[in-house]
Amino acid sequence: MPTPDFLSALLRPELAELHAYTPVAGHFPVRLDANESPPLLSAEARAALARAAVPEDWGRYPDARLVELREAIAARCGVEPDEVLAGVGSDEVISILLTALSRPRPGADAASIVTTSPTFVMYKLSARARGMRAVEVPLDAGWDLDVAGLVRAVEFARPSVVFIASPNNPTGALASADRLEAVIAAASDALVIVDEAYIDFAPRDQLALVRKHPNVAVLRTLSKIGLASLRVGWLVGDRALVAELDKVRQPYNLPVPSQRAATFALRELGGELRRAAAFIAEERERLARGLIELGLSVAPSHANFLWVGTRRPAGEVFEALAARGVLVRSFHGAGGRLAHRLRITVGLREENDRLLAEIAACA
Ligand code: PMP
Repeated sequence: MPTPDFLSALLRPELAELHAYTPVAGHFPVRLDANESPPLLSAEARAALARAAVPEDWGRYPDARLVELREAIAARCGVEPDEVLAGVGSDEVISILLTALSRPRPGADAASIVTTSPTFVMYKLSARARGMRAVEVPLDAGWDLDVAGLVRAVEFARPSVVFIASPNNPTGALASADRLEAVIAAASDALVIVDEAYIDFAPRDQLALVRKHPNVAVLRTLSKIGLASLRVGWLVGDRALVAELDKVRQPYNLPVPSQRAATFALRELGGELRRAAAFIAEERERLARGLIELGLSVAPSHANFLWVGTRRPAGEVFEALAARGVLVRSFHGAGGRLAHRLRITVGLREENDRLLAEIAACA
């Protein structure tokens, strides 16, 4: 669709290189493409969530200060409520961060972020939409942080924000603790965001970094553990940072049903959510063994998905699976070492079995 001239002159030029996020449409009996959780919540939990979500008064705005939700998040994370900023998914928190921090750092000629490649696309997208430069440093051959490359990028670009997803999407790897520490040390004049969207599936978390380093904040979300419909994510960080970011947040960002259901889930469903995450982590290992038996390569994962190497070009395997009703995620458009890689979300046992049966025929 051509953009009218008057509009082109008004739009940020960076929008020309961006695309709206559009999930693959169509009916797929098995959807293993979006890193959501399969339906594992009990009927009782679902009924209680539905009851909890209903507003007392449909005519009133939600709590602008998110008091109960931030208390519940703080209790879960072992921090204080004023160290928590909650948003419409961690996506919104990323937007808020970049709106607040979109100015060039002293000594830098442009506002920029540094992140890894491949990683979660929203860091770059949100940065570019604000006219910031995005410097991507390729992960090493084992999909871990390339410390030397990241240190060079930090020195050269002087970024305002460094984003490290750990476990990373789409590779599933937790960053090595010593490498992450080295990047944080090198970026002591920037804000380092450690994105823990997948931490519920990992053997250790990195929240202690927030106490240890004043320039580190952690992102988390309810989206991967069975509550993506609520769109609730948050940042844990220094209270001075949270207070500044809160000036950018829309006052009524989270609707009443999301605030109430998320608060209920955090307070009352902890055990059930932990059991569901443990089931996914177990299924992940079973699925990995099945894929390896088929001769595919599978990177060690600490997330709710697998990073799978294919013999045939990944785009062809993706199409063949889709034609058989199984949707996964392919990054072949990026080329290079991603041209033979698929990201496969762990599903229910029967979905994973179906994936194994179909991929055996086409990978
Ligand atoms: N961070 C990472 C690393 C992700 O993979 C995702 C979801 N794909 C998000 C953040 C966004 O999650 P949310 O649903 O909380 O916006």
